[in-house]
Amino acid sequence: MPDIKQLGKPWFSQADHRNPEKSAIVIGGGLAGCSTAYSLAKRGWQVTILEQHEALASEASGNPQGVLYAKLSADNTPLSQFILHGYHYSIDLLKQLNIQDWQQCGVVQLAVNDKTNQRYQALDAQHPDDLLQYMNAQQLSEIAGLDIHHSGLFFPAAGWVHPPALCRALVDHSTIKTVKNSLVNEISPENNEWVIKSDSGEFRSKTIIIAQGTASSRFNQLRYLPLKSIRGQITRVKATHQSQKLSTCVCGEGYIAPAIKGEHTLGATFHFNDASLAIRDQDHQENLNMQQQWFPTSYDAIGGDHIEITGGRTGFRCTTPDYLPIVGPVVHHQSFLDTYAPLRKNSKLPLTDKPDYFDGLYVTTGHGSRGMISCPISGEILADMITGDESYTNPLPATLKEALHPSRFLIRDLIKNKQ
Ligand SMILES: Cc1cc2nc3c(=O)[nH]c(=O)nc-3n(C[C@H](O)[C@H](O)[C@H](O)COP(=O)(O)OP(=O)(O)OC[C@H]3O[C@@H](n4cnc5c(N)ncnc54)[C@H](O)[C@@H]3O)c2cc1C
Repeated sequence: MPDIKQLGKPWFSQADHRNPEKSAIVIGGGLAGCSTAYSLAKRGWQVTILEQHEALASEASGNPQGVLYAKLSADNTPLSQFILHGYHYSIDLLKQLNIQDWQQCGVVQLAVNDKTNQRYQALDAQHPDDLLQYMNAQQLSEIAGLDIHHSGLFFPAAGWVHPPALCRALVDHSTIKTVKNSLVNEISPENNEWVIKSDSGEFRSKTIIIAQGTASSRFNQLRYLPLKSIRGQITRVKATHQSQKLSTCVCGEGYIAPAIKGEHTLGATFHFNDASLAIRDQDHQENLNMQQQWFPTSYDAIGGDHIEITGGRTGFRCTTPDYLPIVGPVVHHQSFLDTYAPLRKNSKLPLTDKPDYFDGLYVTTGHGSRGMISCPISGEILADMITGDESYTNPLPATLKEALHPSRFLIRDLIKNKQ
């Protein structure tokens, strides 16, 4: 029996959708939605973004400082490959957009245990110095401007960006329109186009993109996506003369970014099964404790026992079981299960049928804790799929696009006889 891997994977074949009108509607005005709009506009498309709030980037993408944090593994997994491509793409993009609220100050990743230390040394041997360098505590201290007690990796080209400023820059394009205060309540296919019912009226388009963060599985067509929501709170603290010396982002468990407008951002808590938007003192304390443990000189520099907390913000990361985002076309769930049902009994069957897609329905979500490097490249991937326009070189190999495909969980479950 031939191996399934060598037969091609018809369940991952691309949708045949073509839209000669070159216009699309994106639901959700966070980093994922704005990035997709940007990539489509770049290819000559008209895009309308529908956002439920009064402003773009009001949910997960609303933090003051998002760190470009590339958590790489030494064994070049699809996740690690994706992170690397996304990292380079975001940095190039940030340079092109020329936004003010981005600082290429470098990022330090501390080795928080022996295993991480070994991984970092292996990564150092695999990658060029302009991507990352393994350094001892003294070298890192010189770079950071405050004493660091651990060895770790330094990413010289990384830094932090203000995600709302990035969103605004992405949609600053003559063919992108944003409609705010526009909660979408329903999407339905009708006569070869999608009808979208929202608080601000009805919209129609042959192509729609769901970029609703944790709410991306809200509509029936996407209910099968295995999304999880993880609550996170950041803490803003007043900078001091001493803490202004911090000149790079430092990430251990939790992170601190250099001061901007007299404040630092410290992040971020990680809580499952908690849907509260409240800003909690105990979560501020958790963020401060992480600093005290991993980077005590920063904790002392921001005031030690007299730290002045100036604010905080809560958001929800949207994650997937394999930590890769979900980017691509959406199938009819039941029809997909019926088409590939024989795989339950024999995962090596040479099936050839393509899946039945909802014509013109795409999704970009599940960007987890790394939206700064995951959302922009996902916009490019999606725009390539939607337009079929190969003139913009798609930066990722086909296998990696399969690793992001929305149907990957369905097919894995079928093969394991779980669906
Ligand atoms: C506390 C915290 C700290 C983080 N720190 C970092 C970091 O340092 N670095 C990093 O890379 N990443 C970080 N992240 C992750 C990053 O913020 C996210 O990955 C990214 O913002 C996700 O963008 P998104 O567009 O998918 O989701 P969102 O920003 O949540 O956008 C979804 C949008 O869809 C809209 N929407 C939803 N439903 C509807 C509807 N029915 N109709 C209309 N609009 C709708 C929402 O209002 C929202 O604006 C952090 C996240 C959190 C929560």
